[in-house]
Amino acid sequence: MKQRLVVATNNKHKAEEIKDMLLDFDFEVLSLADLNIDIEVEENGSTYAENALIKAMALRDLTEGWILADDSGLEIDALDRAPGIYSARYLGEETPYLIKNSMILDKLEDVEDRSARFVCSIALVFDDGSYWITVNKCEGSISESIQGIHGFGYDPIFIPQGHSSTFGVLSVEIKNSISHRAKALQAVVQYCKLLTEESYV
Ligand code: IMP
Repeated sequence: MKQRLVVATNNKHKAEEIKDMLLDFDFEVLSLADLNIDIEVEENGSTYAENALIKAMALRDLTEGWILADDSGLEIDALDRAPGIYSARYLGEETPYLIKNSMILDKLEDVEDRSARFVCSIALVFDDGSYWITVNKCEGSISESIQGIHGFGYDPIFIPQGHSSTFGVLSVEIKNSISHRAKALQAVVQYCKLLTEESYV
């Protein structure tokens, strides 16, 4: 029987991306939408890993199978690593990112150290409640201006290391090969390979 894997996100794009990454496995990958589950989980952890685990654990009573959840954010060194785990809520949950991004650029006016990173943690919870967690980063810096329209959130102000334009300018293919989320998903793939190859599933 196929191993069922529930992806704990309401974000269709994320669910599809995760499904695609796991195509090689004999998993039945289901999103919350596939299961008609509609829940809002309070992310009250103090780290990305805690929040990812909170989201995954919240689903244990609602479904069966393995559960995968993620949490991510942007850390800007000159802002004491803000917005960090509060990235979605930073400067107001309803504030458009065009405004949030220009407010961040204002805060960094004349700041030399523009180093920053995106961080993503993914938690995988198994039937017995045991779990595995990965935390991955994509290092880079904050641009001097808002650039590009690709991606979402803070992408138009984040320049990944080794590139000279923001994720807003770079193609989705490039972002998906080097991003924090791509690295975390690759770690999940490696771990699932190990589990399935060793016949633990
Ligand atoms: P969550 O992991 O869905 O809770 O998202 C946290 C927040 O971090 C998002 O709402 C964005 O503000 C920010 N974020 C996470 N990943 C990215 C990314 O790849 N690009 C731009 N912003 C991101």
